[in-house]
Amino acid sequence: MPHLPEGVQRAYPLARLTTIRTGGPAELFARPGTLEELERLVGWAASEGLEVGVVGSGSNLLVADVGVRGLVLKLDKELSTIELEGTTVRCGGGARLPAVSARAAQAGLTGIEFGVNIPGTVGGAVRMNANAYGGELAAVLAWVDVTGAGGTERRSPAELGFAYRRSGLAPDEVVARASFTLHEAASEEVKATLADMRARRKAAQPSGIKTFGSTFKNPDDPRAESRTAGQLLDAAGCRGLRIGGAGFSAKHANFVENHGDATTADVIAVMAEGRRRVLGQFGIALEPEVQALGPVELPADWIRE
Ligand SMILES: Cc1cc2nc3c(=O)[nH]c(=O)nc-3n(C[C@H](O)[C@H](O)[C@H](O)COP(=O)(O)OP(=O)(O)OC[C@H]3O[C@@H](n4cnc5c(N)ncnc54)[C@H](O)[C@@H]3O)c2cc1C
Repeated sequence: MPHLPEGVQRAYPLARLTTIRTGGPAELFARPGTLEELERLVGWAASEGLEVGVVGSGSNLLVADVGVRGLVLKLDKELSTIELEGTTVRCGGGARLPAVSARAAQAGLTGIEFGVNIPGTVGGAVRMNANAYGGELAAVLAWVDVTGAGGTERRSPAELGFAYRRSGLAPDEVVARASFTLHEAASEEVKATLADMRARRKAAQPSGIKTFGSTFKNPDDPRAESRTAGQLLDAAGCRGLRIGGAGFSAKHANFVENHGDATTADVIAVMAEGRRRVLGQFGIALEPEVQALGPVELPADWIRE
């Protein structure tokens, strides 16, 4: 590949684009700032036979230590804006969800308060069907523009295949834009709800640490007896358990923390030990919520489709 399109860089370090701060570089990396640029890059990658990956805020992402082959994109400029018009909020896929919640509250719009504590982008939230405090992304999402090798297509929430912490988007599809339909409300009330949600979150979860939030999904196995993944890990003695530079948080047993010099391999080792203990003690196979980018060796039997 002697000639790279404008803006494409080689060997770009990705760890700093993730909240856990582990993993190697992207073989190729670009920050498309317009839909046309995104379409050109995704089309070029397809014509070169390159895989396409996307990084949002990297708040649910584990990057392979050996790095990521192909083209990794991070949406920028026009693809990360937030525009309000009446009760409609139109966002770039790279817009930060807490900023969307705050802008909506400021404008007296209700429906997307749950985004205040989700430190990801709109695109990452759509891919993950992100959720908090019973808020529902699908309930307020009007449409999503999805870019793939064949161009951009508008999809309704019903066409996105949402399930618990997942969507039916193909791995190389990029959420370029999304539009939300909210409802009018008193701005002061919406802001008070945000403040309350922030305070509840601060009391329940560690802050200021390098983590990707919840590591495992909450199980739907009846043997869990309604216990969360965090409660099961805690009961299995995982709270504070450390391997290499990584460990389960002392404040929240389902959060893995990078203590400073962790590798992705350390994080996987911690996850594997937690999963092994919960399986041994309760017979419950926890499934990871965190997404892998590049060849991260998550054992195949960890993931049920
Ligand atoms: C402290 C903390 C608290 C959290 N709390 C919650 C919570 O309450 N509820 C919850 O649901 N999640 C929570 N999370 C997890 C995380 O914030 C969400 O999953 C979020 O939606 C991920 O968005 P992101 O932009 O960071 O995606 P990334 O982590 O960058 O990527 C996650 C996945 O989405 C894909 N992706 C990213 N952008 C796009 C795009 N534009 N188009 C297509 N695919 C894309 C990536 O390729 C990857 O597969 C928390 C995380 C942390 C660190």
